[in-house]
Amino acid sequence: MSWDYCTVYEQAVCACGNGVVTREKHCKSDDWGRSEEHIHNEEIKCENCAANYHIEHRNGHHFLPWKGDWWDIAYLVPNGCSITLPTKPQYLPFEQTRAFEERAIASFTKEELADAVVDMKTHKYSTRLTLESSRELVGIYKRAHNSVKLSNIISAIESCIVKYDTYEWTCDKVKRFREEEAVILDNNKKQNDKTLSESFELKFETVHVDVE
Ligand SMILES: [Zn+2]
Repeated sequence: MSWDYCTVYEQAVCACGNGVVTREKHCKSDDWGRSEEHIHNEEIKCENCAANYHIEHRNGHHFLPWKGDWWDIAYLVPNGCSITLPTKPQYLPFEQTRAFEERAIASFTKEELADAVVDMKTHKYSTRLTLESSRELVGIYKRAHNSVKLSNIISAIESCIVKYDTYEWTCDKVKRFREEEAVILDNNKKQNDKTLSESFELKFETVHVDVE
């Protein structure tokens, strides 16, 4: 199998219209139709625009497969602003593990855990539980240990209650964090939209192609 390489030299008219933005697109493709493209040396060759703007990209996956896998649009963005402020919630540490304690403590208050223990001790079988929280805890335990043995789940929950305050991401803290995060992400989204409306979309055209 061999790769073919080429370099596409591209340019776009800048925001003020008196200069250009240039770049190189390094492409490689193989006999099986696989290809990769990387952008290099993107440069604002206009004194006026270089003083007021910097380049940022928006990109993502196409929903329409015949348009290729990936879209990418470059913009001249006013200095001091960005169109890429984060808008997605962070993954918190407990979301990256199946560990029962971390997940149970991040999902339920100490009181909810105590109520679930009572529910489990009263009804004795995982199929007869009455509280939504106890059924959820059975699910969390099953994903961690591939077992739904109620006596083991009860000891695991009791251990959570004892160690509850030693954990950083407790249920209340997660809730507070997500509420504050939602406000920030919403502001970021508005800020991105505002900056985008003040930015200039670059429309690159091929100047020439070097094939190796
Ligand atoms: Zn310009």
